[in-house]
Amino acid sequence: MVIDLRSDTLTLPTREMKEAMMMASLGDDVFGEDPTVRQLEGKLAGIFGMEAGLFCPSGTMTNQIAIRLHTRPQTEVICHKNSHIYLYEGGGIMSNSHASVKLLEGEFGKLEAEAIRRAINPDDDHAPETALVSLENTMNKGGGSVYLLEEIRPIRQLCKETGLKLHLDGARIFNALIHSGERAYDWGKMFDTISICLSKGLGCPVGSVLLGSHQDIKRARKIRKALGGGMRQAGMLAAAGIYALDHHVSRLEEDHERALEIARIMEQIPNVKRTLPVATNIVIAQLEKISPESFLEKLAEKNIRAVKFGLDQIRMVTHLDIDDRHLETMEERLSNWKMTL
Ligand SMILES: *Cc1c(COP(=O)(O)O)cnc(C)c1O
Repeated sequence: MVIDLRSDTLTLPTREMKEAMMMASLGDDVFGEDPTVRQLEGKLAGIFGMEAGLFCPSGTMTNQIAIRLHTRPQTEVICHKNSHIYLYEGGGIMSNSHASVKLLEGEFGKLEAEAIRRAINPDDDHAPETALVSLENTMNKGGGSVYLLEEIRPIRQLCKETGLKLHLDGARIFNALIHSGERAYDWGKMFDTISICLSKGLGCPVGSVLLGSHQDIKRARKIRKALGGGMRQAGMLAAAGIYALDHHVSRLEEDHERALEIARIMEQIPNVKRTLPVATNIVIAQLEKISPESFLEKLAEKNIRAVKFGLDQIRMVTHLDIDDRHLETMEERLSNWKMTL
């Protein structure tokens, strides 16, 4: 049995999800005529109390569309130095939006209002005009860390005072909400746009949704078209999203419990210096006296898979296809780990 913890994007659609996909009513979504896509967009917008949604092929696309919406060439985006929009979207901020970035530090990948305030550029010919603040919740490279609403409020207030737009990369927002117990509806009020992935812990094969105002989503459709993201009978994919929202949200709690269990198992391995605090479904282990490459090779020999996550770290992610049997087997296989010096 392979224990594959590389990512929560690896999940395969369940039989029930595939059945929902088979039964979906379809139309041409580029003509705005796919009823299932519209239903998904409306459902998610409703959950977050936002006006409209746009179904896209990936979370990279929903983030990149949002950045295009909120910036012009020569303006600047403020984000954490470890944020997905900066590290893992192929330089899209530059190539899609011709915008600059200002990278901030912050514990566990989170930003504070005061740091953002200091990073806003003066109104001066030399500096790119600050246009957008982008946050990430949960924060992937922060070890799946979670923002609370009370941490967002001062940032919302700052953006309002200074005329900045506020975007949320909520690829794993449902993991965050399950952890904090906060309401999606309250989160929707804080942001101009929110990007949500269906293809991570929610277990869909494909898809992300961008939420925002009617006006922003109307423009977002045009940008999606220009990026080649207009899909035709996309209701087959949207049906998976509707199914996931109905059946796969509350079970995320299980993924979080298993991630804690994995951290406990990893802490017993001599080459693991420590794990970052686990809040959701991501475990980051810091290594000592071994490179991530060698460590991953030793894991692979035991049929356990993870990914390198920085110079001395690896990442493991729990998801729909990891159950208690996997964890028991994992602990057994790792019990005789020999320290590498
Ligand atoms: C996965 C992910 C995305 C989007 O990735 P896609 O693979 O393009 O869907 C965006 N932000 C974060 C934090 C992610 O983990």
